[in-house]
Amino acid sequence: MSLLEGKVAVVTGAARGIGQSIALRLAEEGADLALCDVQADWVAETKEKVEALGRRAEAYGVDVSKGDQVQTGVDAIVKDFGKLDIVVNNAGITRDGLLIRMSEEDWDLVMNINLKGTFLMTKAAAKYMMKQRSGTFVNIASVIGLMGNPGQANYGASKAAVSNLTKTTAKELAARGIRANAIAPGFIKTKMTDALTEDVRNQMLAAIPMKDFGTPEDVANVVLFLASDLSRYVTGQTLSVCGGMVTA
Ligand code: NAP
Repeated sequence: MSLLEGKVAVVTGAARGIGQSIALRLAEEGADLALCDVQADWVAETKEKVEALGRRAEAYGVDVSKGDQVQTGVDAIVKDFGKLDIVVNNAGITRDGLLIRMSEEDWDLVMNINLKGTFLMTKAAAKYMMKQRSGTFVNIASVIGLMGNPGQANYGASKAAVSNLTKTTAKELAARGIRANAIAPGFIKTKMTDALTEDVRNQMLAAIPMKDFGTPEDVANVVLFLASDLSRYVTGQTLSVCGGMVTA
């Protein structure tokens, strides 16, 4: 039997990148998928790939930073699928710049999507999960939230707060059968890292003990672990997927 047979999983920011890989990995293990991104049609490719795996997929236009869109989206998901078992809060952005030059607008935008978005989705989904007395959250944080990084004051602070929000979520909801964990990816191979110059790539690799970038699939495999009963007794944790960059 597959690990997620009969489960309904929500993935935010599912149009591409790590979010798409997560959706496919969960579908491979039997989950049906509610795919969310800013506009529903952006997840068309992910939807097609999930359906090719023989699972159900539906698309939802949800900007996670907007409370009304999150509530409408989560209500629609529960109406369509009848329940909601797994929420992967993956949607996230960067707006990098040195702290003394960072605009208030870029600070607010990153906080609103990365942190407030995770809060809003968690709050809306938790109400349904509490009635079910089961469910699990997997929040995508970052090693930058654990280490800090020049040029990423807004991003690092938002991701540190996501890890902390995960701890409180876990403690408040554990008695209702609901778990919450976070993943802190390191440098993951995406279109962005592919476009880097060799010099910059080598500098980044030098900071990674395993001397290799991670892949979206590396992150997706850990999401699968945290979303499934394999991690039944694990809650409130942030697990780094970073080739050894962060060891605590
Ligand atoms: P990505 O390729 O930019 O994908 C993020 C997805 O989220 C995009 O489809 C994006 O849509 C969507 N999104 C942005 N704002 C949104 C909003 N307000 N509501 C709903 N969806 C929204 O990023 P990624 O590299 O796969 O990263 C995924 C997650 O992993 C993020 O939380 C990121 O911080 C985290 N992470 C990534 C790395 C890495 O090395 N890539 C490392 C550590 C952590 P748009 O097309 O509008 O952008």
